[in-house]
Amino acid sequence: MKVPLADLRKQYLQLKPQIDSAIQQVIDSSQFILGKAVADFEGAFAAMHQVRHCVAAGSGTDALHLALWGLGIGNGDEVITTPFTFIATVEAISLTGATPVFVDIDAKTFNIDPGRLDALLAASKGRKFRAIIPVHLYGQPAAMDEISSLARKQDMVIVEDACQAHAAKYRGVFVGNFGSAACFSFYPGKNLGAYGEAGAVVSNDDDLAGKLRALRDHGQVEKYRHAVSGHNYRMDGLQGAVLGAKLPYLDRWTERRRSIAASYTRELGGVGDLVLPFEMPQAYHVYHLYVVRTKRRSGLQKFLGDRDIATAIAYPIPLHFQEAYRHLGYRKGDFPVSEAAAEECLALPVFAEMTDDQVACVIENVKAFFG
Ligand SMILES: *Cc1c(COP(=O)(O)O)cnc(C)c1O
Repeated sequence: MKVPLADLRKQYLQLKPQIDSAIQQVIDSSQFILGKAVADFEGAFAAMHQVRHCVAAGSGTDALHLALWGLGIGNGDEVITTPFTFIATVEAISLTGATPVFVDIDAKTFNIDPGRLDALLAASKGRKFRAIIPVHLYGQPAAMDEISSLARKQDMVIVEDACQAHAAKYRGVFVGNFGSAACFSFYPGKNLGAYGEAGAVVSNDDDLAGKLRALRDHGQVEKYRHAVSGHNYRMDGLQGAVLGAKLPYLDRWTERRRSIAASYTRELGGVGDLVLPFEMPQAYHVYHLYVVRTKRRSGLQKFLGDRDIATAIAYPIPLHFQEAYRHLGYRKGDFPVSEAAAEECLALPVFAEMTDDQVACVIENVKAFFG
């Protein structure tokens, strides 16, 4: 049985009338950039996360850069994140002119380790970190209690990278409420995906939201009046329309992802040397990815691939090993937990349109591999 990592076509066919009509309305209105469809989506997305503002952007990467830029982070600043994330988190820091500083992850959650963060801060007296970007990796919020209290003590701003964590919660509170800003990606394969590039920043800070609105549109505060020098980080009207049509289904898609994850966790416990995802009791994990660990990763991946079951490695190379970030001067052994995770992690298929038969097929084949 073929099991892909996502089935965007099947999702489209389920919502075809709504999506087609939303797209047609944008074409009829000729509002191809921002416009009503984007403004409506911003309102709905902010309401869903119980935040005051949503500023739509061209991609998750744009959103991250925009948030840091709007917060005044730039040359000479240091910004903390982990080396075990998608490269965009760190590119956004570099784009502002600031320097990324890595802290290793926790082996169980794959998110930034608050103990190691505390140790770095304690060992860096006199050094001024301007910001921290906790990444809610795979859909599980980072340890926001500990991170918030450390950030407060150091006067660091928090920018959540929620690109994989749409509508995830921590202690019952939606992501997007734990920092100055939070950034989302609507890359087609994300839990809420556009039909092209799209992203957004959410914030409860009125001032910051105003700045971000100007910056994303060439610093315009009204037509051809540019208060600051900005950029073009606007969302397309068509993407706003597609996202607006899909948003009402996000909750049920998330529930389906969680129920597939629960089936895996129930059935695969104790199989071979598999380490299954750990859900923090405070977290409502939205399972963008269901990531297991095994010392036999390449064998398992090949075995499943030969049986038409797709898997993914997120991420095979920690960022301190990337050529692009060699100049940071980190070495092998600096972040041992990230280095081990990169060798052992494997994402099994989880997507809302997955059938029970496909879930059973994955479970059966993983068990068969470990004999
Ligand atoms: C997808 C992703 C991004 C970047 O989003 P794009 O929309 O692809 O630019 C940033 N951070 C993380 C953790 C992501 O998963």
